[in-house]
Amino acid sequence: MATPQIELSGQLPAKDTTDGEAFSRWYVTAIRRSELADYFEAVGGTMVIRPYGYSLWENMQAGLDQRFKATGHKNAYFPLFVPESFLRREAKHVEGFAPEVAWVTNAGGEDLQERLAIRPTSETIFGHFYSKWIQSWRDLPVLINQWANIVRWEKRTVFFLRTTEFLWQEGHTAHRTEEEAQDETMRMLGVYADFAETEAALPVVRGEKTASERFAGAEATYSIEALMPDGKALQSGTSHFLGQNFARAFDITFLDQDGERNLVWTTSWGMSTRILGAMLMTHGDDAGLILPPRVAPVQAIVVPIPTRTDEDGARVSEAVERVLRELSASGVRAEADWSDKRPGWKFNEWELKGVPLRIEVGPRDLQQDQVTMVRRDSRAKEQVKQSGVAARTSELLAEVQQALFERSAAFLAANTHVAEDYASFREIMRDQRGLIRAYWCGSEECEARIKEETHATIRVIPEDAEAAGPGKCILDGQPARKQALFAQSY
Ligand SMILES: [Zn+2]
Repeated sequence: MATPQIELSGQLPAKDTTDGEAFSRWYVTAIRRSELADYFEAVGGTMVIRPYGYSLWENMQAGLDQRFKATGHKNAYFPLFVPESFLRREAKHVEGFAPEVAWVTNAGGEDLQERLAIRPTSETIFGHFYSKWIQSWRDLPVLINQWANIVRWEKRTVFFLRTTEFLWQEGHTAHRTEEEAQDETMRMLGVYADFAETEAALPVVRGEKTASERFAGAEATYSIEALMPDGKALQSGTSHFLGQNFARAFDITFLDQDGERNLVWTTSWGMSTRILGAMLMTHGDDAGLILPPRVAPVQAIVVPIPTRTDEDGARVSEAVERVLRELSASGVRAEADWSDKRPGWKFNEWELKGVPLRIEVGPRDLQQDQVTMVRRDSRAKEQVKQSGVAARTSELLAEVQQALFERSAAFLAANTHVAEDYASFREIMRDQRGLIRAYWCGSEECEARIKEETHATIRVIPEDAEAAGPGKCILDGQPARKQALFAQSY
């Protein structure tokens, strides 16, 4: 996705998902105009998350954090700087990350003896401390998560999807047995899938990455993948089984019950602000963003309708205040727009910002003891008695959340294809994109050639990859036990 020019006024570009450039223009313009984020021109690849965007991220963080704690994890904070010697201890790890690391070589006016990496990920630093903290089987498991920023060098910015610095969480756990570590890896993949579907209204597919897409230093990498409206897949969270690779590199051993000294088994898992990008891209239309109610900073915007007389004005103000009080009491995040703009302008503005529900309070409705509610997703409008506003708001927010998920789930189902042969595979990739299930023999050459010829990569080997029984590789006809899930990716 290129970085398009953004017009800050005039009509929002249409959400045309058939044309990559147009879709990208819609995405960045909607984000910029809705004041979620801004570019920082002075340093390429970076961005600012503005208060509206940050509050959206905070709501998403809360949904994840609560799930981490419910599965026994605790939060901590580790240093930003990783000595070069740490990164070098795990050979594959340094090889994988070296091209995108930013280094500090001079500080306090002096050249440093050893370069410091600004963390691209923190397995090594956690490994260093785990080797000090873990002595006995009684110390295990260690289940720690950190909320942090990460730097992986990028020259250009695509809001939330591709930036040099981004926010994420990284979980790092150490276990006594291989089985426990494997269970943890799958448990956290499940947490990510549940979060994406329940909070972000994003249906995902999950499965294991092939060796070529594995995390540098992992034995196995699993991911959740969401399908974007332009037919490309977006990796939205990963969970890694690290085996004993980092335990060996950092000498993380423990005295087991039988008196033997053993290496621990570790995992790591991460989800970043990228999921926010996936969510924005998925929900939304020509009028702007549509935020899932569970994470929307403002769930209901109350718009007072201007009146001719002061008496009516006082009645509207009073009703607006009452609605806000009642919504707040029932746990709804609501705000009123008291600005002196015209109602039509306000409607457009809050639609652009993706607020799931609008409540109009005007003199004519009040005469009937009612207000007007408008859903952002379907624009369905209804009159609601004043006494029922809070209850109806909660119902409608739940309905919007459900509708967004169902719409995306239907899209995912409609755009998941099965390719019987390579000709139809190429045809699907050319004409429709989406996810394609196809037999793969397991060879990296086939994987690479399919990518070269069609731009499709194996997103995951899905959990039910063997369900259809054995078949023949889509490319070279070799025996294949599994089907892989292919797509072009972000
Ligand atoms: Zn093959």
